[in-house]
Amino acid sequence: MNEELLTQEWQALIRQYSDVLPVLQALAESHRVDLARNFYDHMLENPDSSPYLSHEQVRTQLSSSLQRWVVSVFAAQRAEQVLECIEMQQHVGKVHARIEVPVSLVLRGARQLKSHLSRLLLESELDAQLQHAATRLACQLIDLTMEIMSQAYSASHDRNSRAEEAYRLFSVSQNLGAEKERQRGALLDWENQLMFALATGQQASYLPRLGDSEFGLWFRHKASHAFQGSPESTSILAYIRGIDSQLEALRAREAGERQELPIDLLRQTREQTKSIRFLLDSLFEQANDLEAGRDALTHLLNRKFLPVVMSKEVLYSRQSGHGFAVLLIDVDHFKQINDTYGHEAGDLALQQIASLLTSNTRGGDYAFRHGGEEFLLVLVDIEAGRALQVAEGLRQRIASEPFRIGGQTLQLTVSIGVAVHDGHPDYQRLLRRADQALYQAKRDGRNRSILLAS
Ligand code: GH3
Ligand code: MG
Ligand code: MG
Repeated sequence: MNEELLTQEWQALIRQYSDVLPVLQALAESHRVDLARNFYDHMLENPDSSPYLSHEQVRTQLSSSLQRWVVSVFAAQRAEQVLECIEMQQHVGKVHARIEVPVSLVLRGARQLKSHLSRLLLESELDAQLQHAATRLACQLIDLTMEIMSQAYSASHDRNSRAEEAYRLFSVSQNLGAEKERQRGALLDWENQLMFALATGQQASYLPRLGDSEFGLWFRHKASHAFQGSPESTSILAYIRGIDSQLEALRAREAGERQELPIDLLRQTREQTKSIRFLLDSLFEQANDLEAGRDALTHLLNRKFLPVVMSKEVLYSRQSGHGFAVLLIDVDHFKQINDTYGHEAGDLALQQIASLLTSNTRGGDYAFRHGGEEFLLVLVDIEAGRALQVAEGLRQRIASEPFRIGGQTLQLTVSIGVAVHDGHPDYQRLLRRADQALYQAKRDGRNRSILLAS
C-alpha cells in the first residue's frame, strides 16, 4: 500500500475541515473514557465477539489502547504524525489477521464509535454548521482508518492461508498409516498407566494427564492442526480436556488422604477413550483423502501439490536471492521392463527408484511422482552447476543400482532434464524448460542429464 498517497489523502481531509479538527481533538480527549466504555460494552454484548474479547482483557488492556487510538487518530496533523498513525492502523490490521478477528466485527465497532461521536457533537453547543462539519470529519477519518486496517488485514491473511497450505503439505508428508497405529497404541498405553496408577493406589497428583501423554501431545500439536475445524477433532480435544479436568477434580478432592478406587472414573474414562478411538479412526479415514496428496505406490508427493511448492519457491527465491532447480526424471525404455519382467516388477522398480531419489536428496528438497514412470524433484537453494551435478549423481546411482526384483536383478537407466529458476514469476516457464531438457536428453540417446541454459 502506498503510504505517501494515504498521508496526502489524510492531510487533505483534515485541511478541508481544519476549523473543526480542534473541536474533535478536544472532544476525543475529554470523552476518551466514555467512548471506550461505550464501545466495549457494545462489543461485549455481541456473542460473536466472545472468542476475541473478555471483560478482563477489556479492563486491563483494551480500554486504554482504544482511548489512545481515538485520541491519536484525531491528533495527527503533520506528515510524520499522520504516517505514524497510518502505520499504527496497519499494525492493528495485521494483529487482527493473526488472531483472525472477522473484519465485520471491527467494522461494527467503528460504526458504534461513529454513532457515539455524532451524538456527542449533536449534544454539544456548537452551531449546526460546525456540528455537521465535525461529524463528517470524524466519520471520514474513522472510515479511512478502517480502509487502511482492512488492507493490511487482507494482505496478512493471504500470507497466513499460504502458511496453512504449507502446514497441510507437511502433515501429509507423514506416514499416516503408521501414525494411526502408533497413536492408537499411545492412547492405550496412557489408559493402562492410569488404570495401574489407580489400582495401586497412587496419589492423584501422580495420575498421568492425557493432554501431556504421547498421544495428547501429538493430537494437540499436530493432528488438531491438520484436521482443524473438523467436528471429530473438536470432540477429541474436548474429551482430552474433559478427562484431564476429571483427574484434576480428583486431585483437588484427595488432599493427601487415600481414597476408594474411583470406579465411576474408571468406567467413564474407559467410555471416553473408546469414543476417542472411534473418532480417531474416522479422522484417519478422512486423512486417506489427504493422503491422496501422496502417491500410493511410491509415497512421493502427488503432482497436485506442485503449484503450491513452485509458487512458494518462486516467492522464496525472490526474497532470498537464492535460486532453485527442477529435475524432470524419466525412466528409459520402461515399457520394455514391463514387457520383459511384468507390470508388478515394474511397480517394484518404480518404488526403488523413488526411494533412491528421496534418500539421495536433502530434507529441504521435494520429490514428486510426476506421472507413470516420471519423477520431478525441486532442489532448493541451488545454482545451475550444482543442480547438474546432483542430477548426474542421481543418474549414475540409478544406472549402477542392481534392482532386485523377485529373485532376479535388473538394470535401469533414467534421463534427466534440468532447469534452474531464472527469476520469472511464472513457474510454468521453468517446468516447460525442464521438459524441453528432458526431451533433448532422450533425443541425445538417453541415460544422461541435460541442463538447458535459460
Ligand atoms: P522412453 O521414456 O525411454 O522414451 O521409453 P518408455 O518406454 O519409458 O516410454 P513410454 O512413455 O512410451 O512408456 C512408459 C511406460 O511406463 C508405459 C507404461 O506401461 C509404463 N508405466 C507407467 N506407469 C506405470 C506404473 O505405475 N507401473 C508400471 N509397472 N508401469 C508403468
Ligand atoms: Mg514417460
Ligand atoms: Mg520413459
